[in-house]
Amino acid sequence: MQIPVLLPTVPGRAALWPYLGRIEQNRHYTNFGPLNLELESRLEKKFAEHAGCKLFVRTTASATLGLELALAALKLPAGSKVLIPALTFVATLTAVLNAGLSPVIADIDPSSWFLTPAIALDAAAAAGAVAVVAVATFGFAQDTQAWSAFQKSSGVHVIIDAAGAFGAQWVLADDIPVVFSMHATKSLPAGEGGFVVSGDKSIADLITQMSNFGINLDPNIAVPVGYLSTRGTNAKLSEYHSAVALASLDVWDQQALTRNALFTRYRTQLRDVFDSDRCWQSGLEPAAPTLFCVRAGSAQRRAALEATFALRGIATRRWYQPLLHKHAPGIGNFFTLPVPVAEEVATDLIGLPFFLDMNEAQLSLVVDTVHESLGVSRSLSTPPKIVRHG
Ligand SMILES: *Cc1c(COP(=O)(O)O)cnc(C)c1O
Repeated sequence: MQIPVLLPTVPGRAALWPYLGRIEQNRHYTNFGPLNLELESRLEKKFAEHAGCKLFVRTTASATLGLELALAALKLPAGSKVLIPALTFVATLTAVLNAGLSPVIADIDPSSWFLTPAIALDAAAAAGAVAVVAVATFGFAQDTQAWSAFQKSSGVHVIIDAAGAFGAQWVLADDIPVVFSMHATKSLPAGEGGFVVSGDKSIADLITQMSNFGINLDPNIAVPVGYLSTRGTNAKLSEYHSAVALASLDVWDQQALTRNALFTRYRTQLRDVFDSDRCWQSGLEPAAPTLFCVRAGSAQRRAALEATFALRGIATRRWYQPLLHKHAPGIGNFFTLPVPVAEEVATDLIGLPFFLDMNEAQLSLVVDTVHESLGVSRSLSTPPKIVRHG
């Protein structure tokens, strides 16, 4: 491939060196070591800057495990129904199944491409769902305060899968747990990793305990320390992964500006081809985008784009497809509500190349290829200048 669809950027050995030295000195390699605790407290500070409430950050070995533990912490009866959107990464579905719950696949909003509180209200009533995992799709932020109001009025529990939305998704409601990913392809990469942000200390503590097999570490409860007090798993984030995450956090602000400038520039240069609002996801844009998605306008236009890009050796991807309900039903017991909007979006959604160090020539080639493939001559207006930071 001449241009890949995504190229991860993870801190190199020079940036990792000081952190690795600390691990060697501490001889503490996992189990809530000093680097892990430093990472959690640095993240807590970052979230606190954007929230009016005290928030707790607890790391996990992946966002998928973070979602599973956040769901387990709700202590719902086995098989309880949980709404999830049809357009999301498969991990949202996997996490619900692994938590012993029954996913109910629901539709999305045509403008935000989200499962919204309005959709969830009707869907929960129709399906008898007692919880919802809303997704900050493609890194766009969900409204935590709207979800908190929904949770209070409906009694339906809410968790947000904000795996790819670090930096855009802040937590403004202390009763909505929000889960982030630190996978290599996300904007705060640890290789593998995740974390849960919650304003509820008892939920946060339970998640920490469940991430360590369920062993009780609290001397103030009836169960003795060292005994299992709940069923857990091993979802701890090692010191090595914490080191990579800390090094990523050191450069995150600067990289976010570059990612954001590229995203804006891309959107501006493609406005004349994708000239309808329905081509673009609306809402609070990702602070540090890691993907670039657009609706081509029709299945035919998408097919034309895919064919031309393939000829030029430029990768494209139908992100989050097939839709969740198209996956093999044999993987578990899940239900599907009618999802006409998700089906429609899936007919022409396409992901174009997007990565931190995408250069001018690559961006130009992609933009030209889009114009040529759709037979639209490129607008002569000068494109806005890209701002290079750092
Ligand atoms: C990346 C992603 C996940 C999975 O995160 P992991 O850390 O790889 O487990 C889950 N949900 C969404 C929406 C994602 O984008």
